[in-house]
Amino acid sequence: MTPVSTFADRHVALFGLGGSGLATAEALVAGGARVTAWDDAEAAREKAAEKGITIADLKQADWSEFAALILAPGVPLTHPKPHWTVERAHAAHVEIIGDIELFCRERARIAPQAPFIAITGTNGKSTTTALIAHLLRSAGRDVQMGGNIGTAILSLEPPAENRVHVIECSSFQIDLAPSLNPSVGVLLNITPDHLDRHGTIEHYAKIKERLVQGADIAFIGVDDELTWAIGDRNQWRSYRDPDRNNCPISAERELEWGLYLSGSKIVSKRDFGSETVLADLTGIGTLRGRHNGQNALFAAGVAQELGLSPEEIQQGLASFPGLAHRMEPVGQLGTVLFVNDSKATNADAAEKALKSFEHIYWIAGGKSKEGGIASLEPLFGRIAKTYLIGAATDEFAATLQGKVPFEKCGMLDRAVRRATQDAAQSLAAESVVLLSPACASYDQYPNFEVRGDRFRDLVRDILDEAERRNAEQLTI
Ligand code: ADP
Repeated sequence: MTPVSTFADRHVALFGLGGSGLATAEALVAGGARVTAWDDAEAAREKAAEKGITIADLKQADWSEFAALILAPGVPLTHPKPHWTVERAHAAHVEIIGDIELFCRERARIAPQAPFIAITGTNGKSTTTALIAHLLRSAGRDVQMGGNIGTAILSLEPPAENRVHVIECSSFQIDLAPSLNPSVGVLLNITPDHLDRHGTIEHYAKIKERLVQGADIAFIGVDDELTWAIGDRNQWRSYRDPDRNNCPISAERELEWGLYLSGSKIVSKRDFGSETVLADLTGIGTLRGRHNGQNALFAAGVAQELGLSPEEIQQGLASFPGLAHRMEPVGQLGTVLFVNDSKATNADAAEKALKSFEHIYWIAGGKSKEGGIASLEPLFGRIAKTYLIGAATDEFAATLQGKVPFEKCGMLDRAVRRATQDAAQSLAAESVVLLSPACASYDQYPNFEVRGDRFRDLVRDILDEAERRNAEQLTI
């Protein structure tokens, strides 16, 4: 745990006692703060009370007493409208911050030189975060990984000069971290997502830009207009002006300086004239697809910045185990590969999976995002058939009508069964039953992990069943 000493002897309000909220409350208490916490869910309040956190209804509290409101990132700060705690805090001139901000203040106090890598972007954050942590660990570094991925930042070991914190940051977390100042910032890409919570795309991009502005050095994608503009505003590296040391990254074209892909090779041209091949992605199954090429470029760039050699980078990339629910191969039945990409909660993410395979039996649907799957039409030729589930069924069916065969399956179990039956009859050298829903899961599941786990279980049942039948045939 990282005890938060910057609020010692002061009284803070904390709202939202989910995973990271509870960890934050404990870290504040461990650092000597007085915490009064609340959550609308009784179970969360009870769990916190069991851990010794003071629970009291913040609606009844005297807000002039509080030094800060610590807000969980899931609670609306601005859109669709500020949460009532936010309004109360504003009225009482109480600052509103989150756990990443507490970490930054603690780092500034106890180990300002401690390496701190912060990663954001619309898609690829978790993969890139895990990949960076894996590369550094493989090279023998002391790594603490967390934030929006897995462990809450304040549950990690405290910052120290020889310990690298690799932290995934959502926009919500950045919005609550006014002094975010990583030693290395990573901004992968920006496409419309979560606009219900951020208002406009401009506001969403501005929040992400803050991570770049605060960083000592930032790696910034140049493959979409918004991040390109952010890089331009914050100036690219130039040997003429070494203080301006942000580094552009492209998975789509060769750059004059920066990092880019040349075929499957990761090329680093961080100074004019010098060109180093950091790694070759050929044959690395867990980094399949152009989008993973982008993630690998960023990870390699950060690793190089932290002093890893091309050999260490190559070895680390080759041994990356991949992340669950992101194009995760979960089974093989003859020529049929089953791929769990439940994390693809928008069309942009699903596009990456569709681009990675040729003959697809596609399971899609759930709670759709703005624009639906219309943007995926150029890839419809790769889809043998679509199996629709959840609330988006009719909307997606209308987009597919006359272009791709589809079947309304309602639930995932039927979709997996039907897709397997069809794929098993295909004559293609490799067919893929792909769960890449292009939708949030909330209409049918608590989250994308449960949806992906269910898919994995269903596939396992099918494989077990096939094995049993095979065994029976052999004994007859
Ligand atoms: P995040 O943490 O930003 O949500 P993940 O690494 O968990 O990102 O990947 C989420 C989904 O986005 C996956 O389904 C994957 O196919 C897709 N994806 C991964 N990396 C990228 C990228 N660099 N650009 C676009 N899509 C990506």
